[in-house]
Amino acid sequence: MERAIITNIQGYSIHDGPGIRTVVFMKGCPLRCIWCANPENLTPNIQIGFIRHLCQNCGRCAAVCRHGAILPGDGHRIDQTKCTTCGDCVDSCYYDALVRYGTERTSGEVFDEVRKDKMFYDASGGGVTVSGGEPMTRPKFLYELFSRCRKEGISTCVETCGYAPEAAFERILPVTDLFLYDLKIIDPALHRKHTGCDNGLILKNARYLAEKGANILFRQPVIPDINDSEDNIRQTAEFILSLGGDFALELMPFHRAGASKYDALNIPYDVESLSPMTEAEIGAVREKYLTCGIHCTISK
Ligand code: SF4
Ligand code: SF4
Repeated sequence: MERAIITNIQGYSIHDGPGIRTVVFMKGCPLRCIWCANPENLTPNIQIGFIRHLCQNCGRCAAVCRHGAILPGDGHRIDQTKCTTCGDCVDSCYYDALVRYGTERTSGEVFDEVRKDKMFYDASGGGVTVSGGEPMTRPKFLYELFSRCRKEGISTCVETCGYAPEAAFERILPVTDLFLYDLKIIDPALHRKHTGCDNGLILKNARYLAEKGANILFRQPVIPDINDSEDNIRQTAEFILSLGGDFALELMPFHRAGASKYDALNIPYDVESLSPMTEAEIGAVREKYLTCGIHCTISK
């Protein structure tokens, strides 16, 4: 059975697909979007985070660590070059100042968690959504999980940035009810600048899925001064319309919910100066998409 590193299995979500859903967060992503709200899911490996405002400097973590990976002083607690992610320090901290990001789970173990809420899916038209990170980095795991869900009558949905081999999409297409597919930036140079990756493969895979008749809801995280320009709105609309069909776009206004996790992981938060979007600002972006002929909504 396939294994993946999972950071969270979150029940009762109403933001990631129709109805009440269980969202499975998988570690590992090929993109490095500077606004990412889930930085704990960027790398594929397990990590230990440090929440410094909870630390009471009791010293228990240093006493239990067998690898000399606990740093003294008021700075970040973990020396990532020495840490083996054994988790002993996490278990020893009385104050929850240390957190383990990621646990290895089989597709069967995740399925067992997901199916516990089947009665809620049945009542609401919900199901399971796999998010990340980028779930398409583990297509075999996804295929196993979604196949079992389908057999149990549980609807399946994947959130993807689209950056994966076409073969990965081909594999999971028969067992996937909905693709939540990000279109972040259409201009290739700007996409590379702000996400670290080219978008040629992303646009090609979107076209592939559309041609195969997949159920796709396009989504766009809207980041002020990065992808809310007239040019990007027009180019995104033109791309969606070029696919034929009647694909909709859901806007996800920028928020700062992930900021504290950057500090916990001791990595820079490059959009520190950005403020969350106001309702008026995201509403104005939506109006522009509507004017372009795109059925456009704003995520809650
Ligand atoms: S065990 Fe927890 S509270 Fe104590 S020093 Fe370590 S991180 Fe801080
Ligand atoms: S996870 Fe293990 S190796 Fe890493 S700092 Fe904690 S106790 Fe040390």
